[in-house]
Amino acid sequence: MSRIGLRIRHLSNSDPWRRHARCLGKPYELFEQPFPVDEDGRPLAQAICEACPVAAKCLDQAIDEGDDTTYRGGMTPDERRAESRARKHNRELEGARS
Ligand code: SF4
Repeated sequence: MSRIGLRIRHLSNSDPWRRHARCLGKPYELFEQPFPVDEDGRPLAQAICEACPVAAKCLDQAIDEGDDTTYRGGMTPDERRAESRARKHNRELEGARS
């Protein structure tokens, strides 16, 4: 994804919840790989996402879209893949119980 693409995606998407995204106006480099990190190795974007009121919706959408490049929803692509597998596993368990 290009840098311009990330900014346009957040600003032009018609989903109303995106207007509340904490990342609006933030440098897009924070959300692109290699993710800049603090002295403890945490992605700088993490603090932005942790304070974001629409993080859950953002995470759901990033997983649904299979975004494997950017930091979104408070997670790296690897973390989202793990989250997606955990959700799938939970759905299968729930299906087996019903
Ligand atoms: S969770 Fe992070 S990437 Fe998603 S909208 Fe909020 S600040 Fe932006």
